[in-house]
Amino acid sequence: MVRRDELLAYLHGLLETARFRDYAPNGLQVEGTATITKLVSGVTASRALVEAAVAAGADALLVHHGYFWQGEDPCVVGIKKARLAPLLAHDINLFAYHLPLDAHEIYGNNAQLAVQLDLIVTGRFGPEPALAMCGELSVPLSLAAFARRIEHALARPPLCVNGGEHLIRRVGWCTGAAQKYLEAAAALGLDAYISGEISEHTVHAARELGIHFFAAGHHATERYGVAALGQHVAQRYAIEHLHIDLDNPA
Ligand SMILES: [Zn+2]
Repeated sequence: MVRRDELLAYLHGLLETARFRDYAPNGLQVEGTATITKLVSGVTASRALVEAAVAAGADALLVHHGYFWQGEDPCVVGIKKARLAPLLAHDINLFAYHLPLDAHEIYGNNAQLAVQLDLIVTGRFGPEPALAMCGELSVPLSLAAFARRIEHALARPPLCVNGGEHLIRRVGWCTGAAQKYLEAAAALGLDAYISGEISEHTVHAARELGIHFFAAGHHATERYGVAALGQHVAQRYAIEHLHIDLDNPA
């Protein structure tokens, strides 16, 4: 088992949470039992994930998308009450890490997506602290072949925007809702850029910038960081860990 405070301090240091100005608090968002023997991880602390954690007998839940986002109604009513009530009733700690978990060198969403897609990481880009990564394919691929690789790795076909006739060798990526870095990727001369989500205007931008764009799913691109982090802390403290992946088409 591990003490809650020890785990919190370890995660704070490992993920360098103090480096990030974020849209939600990073760290312990809901306090539960003082000692932890079973950890459940998942992408988003939805009601379904909370209920699955309760059913699994977890005393801590580790997520990428927690609660208390900037600009949301802070009152504990409606769906927010329904999510918090089972956590409090079962004394389950909720640990949430947003940008620090996108960014981490090993357990981060972007680092773990590189593993899934067999990308050789060569650097980072975007505003500091830089979240997006760039890298290379060992063998250049066509748009269709790279789309198949993404589909195979993430078990979900990506939405592809053809940015020209060129093959893909140098790639940029940033998981989740990070299509805003497309122009920065094009400015670096990358052949393709991958993120989770896509808007209508991004299709035109990719075509006009001459860079292929893949929207591979917000959830699908962000499952791997939190699972890897959960596995790591479980190993470090010899506690049980269960990653629960609840399907999300977005
Ligand atoms: Zn996200």
